[in-house]
Formats: sequence, structure tokens, C-alpha cells
Amino acid sequence: MTQKFTLSNLGYPRIGKNREWKKTLEAFWAGKLDEAAFRSEMETIQLQHWSAQKEAGIELIPVNDFTFYDHVLDTAVMFGIVPPRYGYGGGEVDLDLYFAMARGNAEATASTMTKWFNTNYHYIVPEIGDQTPRLTTNKPLEAYRLAKAKAGIEGKPVILGLYTFLKLSKGFPASELPKVAARFLPVYIQLLQELKQEGAAWVQVDEPAIVTGLEAAEIKLLESIYGEIAAAVPGLKLLLQTYFEAAEPLEQLLTLPVQGLGLDFVHDGGANLAAIERLGWPADKWLGAGVIDGRNIWRADLDDKLALVGKLAALVPAEQLILQPSCSLLHVPVTVQGEDKLKDAVRQALAFADEKLAELSLLGAVLNGGSREALAESRAALAAFRALPERRRQDVAQQAETLQGQRDWRGLPYAERLPLQRQKWQLPLLPTTTIGSFPQTVEVRQARLKWRKGVWSQERYDGFIRQQIEEAITIQEELGLDVLVHGEFERTDMVEFFGEQLDGYLFTRGGWVQSYGSRCVKPPVIYADVAYVKPMTVKESLYAQSLTKLPVKGMLTGPVTILNWSFVRDDLSREEVARQIALALRHEIQALEEAGIEMIQVDEPAIREGLPLKAKDHEHYLNWAVRSFRISTNQVKPTTQVHTHMCYSDFNNMIDSISAMDADVISIETSRSHGELIASFEERAYDKGIGLGVYDIHSPRVPAVAEMAANISRALRVLDPQQFWINPDCGLKTRGWPETIAALRNMVAAAEEAREQV
Ligand code: GLN
Ligand code: ZN
Repeated sequence: MTQKFTLSNLGYPRIGKNREWKKTLEAFWAGKLDEAAFRSEMETIQLQHWSAQKEAGIELIPVNDFTFYDHVLDTAVMFGIVPPRYGYGGGEVDLDLYFAMARGNAEATASTMTKWFNTNYHYIVPEIGDQTPRLTTNKPLEAYRLAKAKAGIEGKPVILGLYTFLKLSKGFPASELPKVAARFLPVYIQLLQELKQEGAAWVQVDEPAIVTGLEAAEIKLLESIYGEIAAAVPGLKLLLQTYFEAAEPLEQLLTLPVQGLGLDFVHDGGANLAAIERLGWPADKWLGAGVIDGRNIWRADLDDKLALVGKLAALVPAEQLILQPSCSLLHVPVTVQGEDKLKDAVRQALAFADEKLAELSLLGAVLNGGSREALAESRAALAAFRALPERRRQDVAQQAETLQGQRDWRGLPYAERLPLQRQKWQLPLLPTTTIGSFPQTVEVRQARLKWRKGVWSQERYDGFIRQQIEEAITIQEELGLDVLVHGEFERTDMVEFFGEQLDGYLFTRGGWVQSYGSRCVKPPVIYADVAYVKPMTVKESLYAQSLTKLPVKGMLTGPVTILNWSFVRDDLSREEVARQIALALRHEIQALEEAGIEMIQVDEPAIREGLPLKAKDHEHYLNWAVRSFRISTNQVKPTTQVHTHMCYSDFNNMIDSISAMDADVISIETSRSHGELIASFEERAYDKGIGLGVYDIHSPRVPAVAEMAANISRALRVLDPQQFWINPDCGLKTRGWPETIAALRNMVAAAEEAREQV
């Protein structure tokens, strides 16, 4: 039989089946492993990953996708791009310096970390100053050699492309991009030459920044980068890899002098296939066809995939078709083995990294002449999953239908409900409040653990939580805050807490993915229709309210944040799932209101995370995201005050959407980017309440009264004091009590000062 389609992978999860990567890293940081032991442990983990992929029948196995922390940091360090504050003197960057850049050390703060495109992975932002880039080491080459020597693998080195690397970096104006690129080109060329000399056949050059949209100047830059590389390193096969969305304009991208182009056929909305059908495929290029979803955890419908590959094979010769996941498998957990707590029909519907590679190999086998009978098991598993009654509930569908013909907004517009709310709440000017959570102390975490393990009865645990609430209320009253919170002591995590109480969720045992560095998260999974079961927050809110005459805010996580921080079923649109969550939360809000909780905060810190990568798609997303929020909140009485909270500082082009959420008050992060942020609200004539995050809760430092007062008066210079609330910039759960009390005391004092001045 002649082998036709090639099977490839773009990246394998680093963390290991049992998170051994994380454990090794943390043991090293804690001084429990010396450097030699650390390196050898890490090598063993890498070898395991390679052999898993080899056994799965992957032909183009990625090397250099592995890292000790982050692949963007690796790239910066490899080129000697170290910010001056670390006192770097040139040469190879040692582990101390490497981790100092990632995590900070006694002398210098850590580098900024930010989200990797629209995923929950975070990378370290390179700071490019006037350093001269140098190849301090050739990490892909080392990985290539290691794979060859120790695993007998002819690996496919993966590198971060120059264009994307620079797009993700800071330290120079965007207009300088071509100049900075010219400085880096020689080292990229050197790196690739060394790989070629060593005998590497294919190199995967990741350029996901392409999918964020290209202007003419950027296309030109790509042409010049890849033109120069092709001229300097002829014969080395480059596979220019895009993912997460469609690569546009494909017409131009197809003319780049690279041997292969990798495209995502799962998250492109069909645009990549349509473009190839329109343009045809150049006879001399390979297509890396991302057909298996690398972002989600569900078993693929292999019949659908076969149909897709069939269409591609009609346009691209099979010999030039590489079948692969849509992106690196970094974004999914390692293996479903061990998920023995789930019912069969659900467990069999899951596919993590190893299972996805097995799917790829099954596809390859069928496509390369094998019998379709091989798909029987996969088909049966999918059919069983689809047949689960909870996946398609009549009552949930009916609820969604009731939205039709219902008003989409609050009963009264803001301007009309504002006087009613003023009268009802009688708050002072510049009211003070907090964002919701108070310190999750060791005591709180231990109590929860004891309760979960059954050591503590429900009664005892409830009593403990009540006591925490009592203390928090007393503290807040003593501090003189105007609007109180119950403290969220009963919650581990703001999404998990709701997922555990809603229908439609499941929780895996080992579904961990890397969030940043050694930090892993285990997102809850929406596998069926989401529906309300019973009150989730009423008991605690009501208890807190019974202890004080001051208003206590009810506290919920919003529908879009719940959606964006979960793994979501892939048979419904995200919009539809968000609507289901929104309707479930609407019940909760109703229950709170009925219980007399009439100030309710619905947090949406993750609304921005769901933004599509291309600006042209933002509006559609924001429309349904914002509508989901309104579905949750728009049924309350005009006097009920709806708050929301968002953490991030980049509100660029979002103010109108925020306004369309129609929340009475929004609290935002402002302490780190004060001026800019307020200005953007001013520009759009934002008329609703704004809670000003006057201090940064991410550090234990207690800000002085004067510092916060300055923050407040700066804002008051541009916006109406009647609009303002004063609060920290996020929840306080990661802080300790002493600094929390001290900081809030200063905050209240700063608010009092400000009131005297206006
Ligand atoms: N209410 C939440 C808290 O205070 C909000 C957290 C967040 O914005 N990430 O913890
Ligand atoms: Zn926040």
C-alpha cells in the first residue's frame, strides 16, 4: 500500500499525564531538585511525549514545542532579548535569569504576561529595546538532536515566526516593525541554516498573528521576511503555520515563498476551504490541514472529517496533504484515561490530546485505503452521546423560545430608573464598596476540604461559613464601607461554584491545561443543556443581609464569563449556550430579588476574552455577549440595582458595548492605567455608574490615602462625581486580612477626603 496522506502534530501538552512537568518545575523552584536532576527529569518527560506521538503513528512529530515555562519567553531568551533591569551581560541565559524574567526576583519585577490570542494560555511579553539580537543558543536544534539521539525521531522543529514574535513584543512603536524585523532577520536565518545543516526536513514556523488580520504593509513585511529567508536558506522546507481563525487574504499568503501553509479548518468558519475552492491550490505547495479540533475536548465526527478531507483532496494532491490538529494540543488535557468517574456515554465522547492523535491516525488509515469499518466504534460512541436526553431538553428549548417577543432591555431606561434608585438606596456621594471576595485564608480552604471529604458535616460547614460572613460584615461596618458583600467564602472559583450547581456541567478528574508557567487550570465542562436547578447564592446573601442595615450586594458570575472559562459542547453555537446560562442566571436573580436582595452584581471579567481575533468580527460577538448579560439581568424591578465588574484595563472600542449591558454600575480596574481608561469612558459620554478601582489588589502593598485620593481626583476632573463609586480594582480573595483591612481603611479615608472636595 502506498502511504499518501502525511500525519502531523503541531505541539503536544507540556504538563504531562499526571502534571509531572508542573511538579518538576515547582520542585526545582523550591530547591528540592538541583539543576542536573531538573534537566534530566524534563528530558524524560519530553521523551515520553515523543514516544506517545510516535506510537500514535504521527509522522511529523514536533520538537521544540516543549519549554521550561513558555515558548515566547524561550524565543526572546534565545535571541538574547533580556530587559536591562536583570543586569544581563550577554551569552547564554541561565535558568536563574530565565525564571527571573518569568517570575521576578529580589532585584527586578517579572515581565508582563498576557493572553496568547483568544486562548487561556498566557505568554511572557518580550521587551525589545535596543539590544542587538544574537543567537545565544539554538533551542530547536538542540531539541531536534535530542529527539534523534534518544528517541530515534526525525523531528519537525517548531519555531515562533518572526512576524508573530514581533507582534507579540513590546518596546517599539508599531511603525518600526519593519526596521525591528530587519534587525532580527539575520539571527532567524542563522537559526534556520543550522537546522538545515543538521538535516531537518520540515520546520514549522508558527505565525498565528496572521489570522488577526493583515493590512497591506503587513503583507509586504511578511513577503520581505519570507523572501529573504527563502533566498538565504534554500531547500529547507518551511511550513508556515496559522491557527485559531481563517488566514486572510489567502491569495497573498499563497504567494509567499514557503513550501507549505498550515490552515485551521475547524475555527475558520468555513472561510479557509471556501478560499481554496475559489483560488485553487498552487501545484508546488503542501497544505497542513488542521482538521481535528485542537481547542476542544470532544471526540470528532470522523465521517464529517472524511468529507472535509475529501473536499481538500479534490483540490490538493494527496501527496501534498498533511493531516493535523487545528492548532497545538497545548490547549487540551493529555488523556482521557483515568476519567473513571464519568458515565460511559460521556467519557467516550471525550478526546484529549492522545485521543485526538488516535483520531488523526484512524482518519489517516481510512484515507490511505483502510476500511471505513474502523470508524464503527467512534460512530457508536458519538451516537450514544448524542442520544443522551439531557443534551436536548424540551424545557430548556421552551425557555429560550419565551425570549421571543419579550423585551430585551430593563423595564425603564437608565435615566428613568436612576432617580428611583437614588431614592431607594440613599447612598452618599462617591459610595464605597468592594468587588465581592474577601481573603480565602488557609482556614477557609481547610474547612472546605474537610467538608468535601466528609470529615465535616454540611451543618458544621454551613456554620463555619456563617461565622466567616459575620466577621466580614463586622469588619466592613467598622471600616465604614457603604455597600457590603458577603465575602464569597463558600466559593472555590467563580465559575466552578456555579457549574457545580447547574445542570449540564461535568467535572473531569484530570482535565488540566496549562494557563501560565506551572499554573494549570481544570475548566468545568458544559456537555449538555444548561439549566437552573435551585437557588445557588441566596442563602449566603440573605444571611449577610440579615446582619446589617447597610445594603449587601448579591454576587453572581455572568453568563459570558461562565461560558468563556468552561470547555463548551461543540454541537451548539457559543451564543446559544450563553443564552442557556443567561436564562439559568435569570432564575437566580429572580430568587435573590424575591428574597429581598435588590442590589445584585453580575461579574463579567471574561467578556473580552471571547473576542474574535479579527476586528471585523467583534461586533457580532459583542452583540450576543452583551445580550446574554441583559437576558440575565433585564427582568428586575427598576429600583433593583444591577452591578457588573470587569478587571482588565483595555476597554478600547468596548465602551458602547459596556453601556449596552445596561448595568446600573460597573466596577473596573483603573489603578494601573488610570488616565487612559477614564478618558475612554469620557469620550463615549458613558452615563451610568462607574466603580473606580482605586487600588491594585494584585500586590500586598497597602496604598497610602494620598495615592488613592490622587486617583480619585484625577477621575473627578473628567467625569461627573454623581456617577462614581469607589472600590478596589478586583476581588480580595488572594490577599491576607491585615493588608486588606489597612488598604480599605485608607480607601474609605480617601473617599471621605474626595467628598469634601466636590
Ligand atoms: N466577585 C469576584 C471576586 O471578588 C470577581 C472576581 C474577578 O473579577 N475575577 O472575587
Ligand atoms: Zn476582577
